Amino acid sequence: MTERIKVLYIAGSGRTGSTILERILGQFEQIGSYGELRFIWDRGYAGNWPCGCTKPFRECDFWQAVMAQTFDHQPIDIDAVLHLNQHVDRTRYVPQILGIRRTQQFKQDFEAYTALLQKLYAAIIDVSGKPIIVDASKFDSSGFILGQMPGIELHVLHLVRDSRAVAFSWQRRKMHRMSDGRERPQVRRTPVRAALEWLKLNALAEVMRWHSTSYQRLRYEDFIQNPSASIAHILQQIDQPTDELTRFLSPTGVTLQQQTHTVAGNPNRLDYGEIPLRLDDEWQRKLPPRAFALVTLLTLPGLLRYGYPLGRQPNG
Ligand SMILES: [Zn+2]
Repeated sequence: MTERIKVLYIAGSGRTGSTILERILGQFEQIGSYGELRFIWDRGYAGNWPCGCTKPFRECDFWQAVMAQTFDHQPIDIDAVLHLNQHVDRTRYVPQILGIRRTQQFKQDFEAYTALLQKLYAAIIDVSGKPIIVDASKFDSSGFILGQMPGIELHVLHLVRDSRAVAFSWQRRKMHRMSDGRERPQVRRTPVRAALEWLKLNALAEVMRWHSTSYQRLRYEDFIQNPSASIAHILQQIDQPTDELTRFLSPTGVTLQQQTHTVAGNPNRLDYGEIPLRLDDEWQRKLPPRAFALVTLLTLPGLLRYGYPLGRQPNG
């Protein structure tokens, strides 16, 4: 291994606004953003979900070239890859990923899986010509896996959003557009499930600080309030110049021009052009009182730690 591959990994809970953030980062010359890369095997290759360029994954030129290079132009045994993925990239394997009580079987699977990821990330850089990868997977085990790979220089961006906003978002009905034109509902979660997941993923994202080259925490609300400053901080974290910033960021929004080949993420990853950046605070009025109280109580330590007001801010 000559040079380590620089990866900016967005960690934290789902529904934190990571899709718009990573798409902004993907507009920079040196930075490529690819959505939630942990889904590349199941939703991407096996499921053939649409890429951010709107083509089905297996018909997208970019991913075709990446896959060919990753697998040395050999046929892909996707079942074997999915099997490996399921036996390595799961929360319950985090201790083993970190080297605690690894079984012989896990060791074998882990080595095979990380060797595959290394080839995948190298192929992404070769094909895109962009030396930095943004991976918005957010999930805990995927981040820890990258942190254990000697060929990866891992930078963690821990994205946090008010737990009540996250719980509200998990209840919304949104549709994914599929490759064949059908629509598929986005996964929904109960407030309790959303709250517990929020606690777990934020706690584990904080642990990633000890397994990465750099770590910074960003609140989604602060990012929306001052996108330029937040993006500038992120660019500094990965040692990148900030002079391209004004090209597509204005005080009210962002212009997304460059097509991004994203694997998965919020359905809005398929939107292009002028996109307003505004705080989505519908939850302040619409999250039912019982759910509001329940989520506030369950996530109290996190809300206090990240500096969120506990009551509703009707004008906020
Ligand atoms: Zn594509």
